[in-house]
Amino acid sequence: MTRRRWIAEHWDEATATITGAQAEHMSRVLRAQPGMEADIVAGGHVFHAEVVAVAPREVRFNLITELQADPALPVTLVVSIYKFDHMEWAIEKATELGVAAIVPVIARRTEKHLALAAEKRAERWRRIAHEAAQQSRRSDVPTVDDPAPLAQRVRATAHATRIVLAEQERGTALRTVIEEAVAAAQDEMPALEIAIGPEGGWAPEEEALFDANGWRAASLGPRILRAETAAIAALSVVASFLE
Ligand code: SAH
Repeated sequence: MTRRRWIAEHWDEATATITGAQAEHMSRVLRAQPGMEADIVAGGHVFHAEVVAVAPREVRFNLITELQADPALPVTLVVSIYKFDHMEWAIEKATELGVAAIVPVIARRTEKHLALAAEKRAERWRRIAHEAAQQSRRSDVPTVDDPAPLAQRVRATAHATRIVLAEQERGTALRTVIEEAVAAAQDEMPALEIAIGPEGGWAPEEEALFDANGWRAASLGPRILRAETAAIAALSVVASFLE
């Protein structure tokens, strides 16, 4: 039976503590008692742990042994801000699929009211990533950056292979760009950064900016996918190479 896996908010080298709603669920619903075993994720590491103290909104564990953590995919998803419900669904699916980091960006065709509201949504996006990591039994939680202008991210120096998913791109399939990155990385895992445009797609000057900063344009095929579909498809292609 696979033990439940919980992501701790507080920890030190010997103990970890779950607080808030998670703790309440453990104490009230799961009737956690001292001695109950669980897998506890603390600081990106996974431990076999056992309950030592239960309070209504706080459960404390002794960390017994560190377990082999399954690393996330070394992929950063640069997501243009678009309809929040669809975008939040994409954040949840990307987390389930192993994304390591999510960088929300304001693109030319990001609707103005969403760009303005995005700053206040970042905490909610982090909570969605945390819950999806918990549900998918990940040993780490993807980071979610504060929203930034697209150009700032495009120009930032990176050590990753940077790929812009371009719906008009007919030449290079994403698969090919990843094959090349895997070959170039030899026995390392290649770090990848994948950018997805907003509902309205990339503006011409954005495509030029990506190109001028060395991003590789890649296609997911002849059909036009919704941004959330593109996120799932892209991460699935990456996982098929790296997992
Ligand atoms: N409004 C655009 C579609 C934008 S889809 C149009 O109708 O042409 C949103 C984003 O998903 C795109 O900017 C791109 O990053 C990605 N995407 C969608 N379909 C794609 C495809 N076939 N290949 C590569 N990227 C794609």
